[in-house]
Amino acid sequence: MSHFSYEEWLNYVKGEIPDDTRALYEDHLFNCEACLELYSEAISFHEDTLPNLSSSHFADDVMKLIEKEIRQSERNDQITDFKNKKQKSFVQSVWFHYATAASFTLILTFSGVFQSMYGVIEKFENNAQAKEPSITETVMNKTLSWLDEWEEDNKEAKEK
Ligand SMILES: [Zn+2]
Repeated sequence: MSHFSYEEWLNYVKGEIPDDTRALYEDHLFNCEACLELYSEAISFHEDTLPNLSSSHFADDVMKLIEKEIRQSERNDQITDFKNKKQKSFVQSVWFHYATAASFTLILTFSGVFQSMYGVIEKFENNAQAKEPSITETVMNKTLSWLDEWEEDNKEAKEK
């Protein structure tokens, strides 16, 4: 079997290969560890070229990247058909990688931090609910028994 070069894997990650060759890349990836390694390298390289996800200008950065890509394609003066295909695959690949990164962040946030936070809140609420009536009950009982005693004392005092 013929291997793919690092540049070819980078193009695959960027979505810059013709749609009809994608299957060839994918089939090969399942059967070749050497190319899987190159593919992983290509992904991490491509991630570095993406705008910072934690940046507050995240949306602006993505828009700038897309605009830049469109301007570049226009400057290259390609035929309309190929240009559209390239723009579409670039946007698709950007969103694919962002979706992966974003869902990973969401999984971390919601499964980890939020779940343990929810657990703490739930525990606290349960404790508060369990304690509140018991405190009230204790106070009520104490007051009632004190009133009873006071009444008994008064009765005894009156009788004497
Ligand atoms: Zn290979």
